[in-house]
Amino acid sequence: MNLDPKRSTIKAPAERFTGDVYVDSINPRREGSKMIVSCVHFTPCARTDWHFHVLGQTLHITEGVALLGTRDGQVIVARAGDTIYTPPGEQHWHGATPTDLMSHLAMLEGADDGTDGTTWLEKVGDDEYAAAAAAIERTA
Ligand code: MN
Repeated sequence: MNLDPKRSTIKAPAERFTGDVYVDSINPRREGSKMIVSCVHFTPCARTDWHFHVLGQTLHITEGVALLGTRDGQVIVARAGDTIYTPPGEQHWHGATPTDLMSHLAMLEGADDGTDGTTWLEKVGDDEYAAAAAAIERTA
């Protein structure tokens, strides 16, 4: 075994995220493995664009409060310690609430073509995000 030193924190690209999001890569895809793990840090109101993962994704909230949405209108509010699973191909987004930082571990398997198997779609607009955030008050 070997120590894998911490990599520098990377700013998530504006073409796939809204707001300030930072990524700590924990397990980049290695030779002979499909496992990919990152710790992703969202500032308040920051979120991913709509996207899906060819082999699904497991998200484990490590800090703060997360907001997640799917195309059927489902909104999930998840807190530190909660785990969310998105099945293969399900379009979704994930992010922080308007009032809280949020960090999650993002765990997924890469595709056979060597990519991370994620397909990125359009942005989550401010109105769409605000509607999802309104769900927090209903569940609080
Ligand atoms: Mn995802």
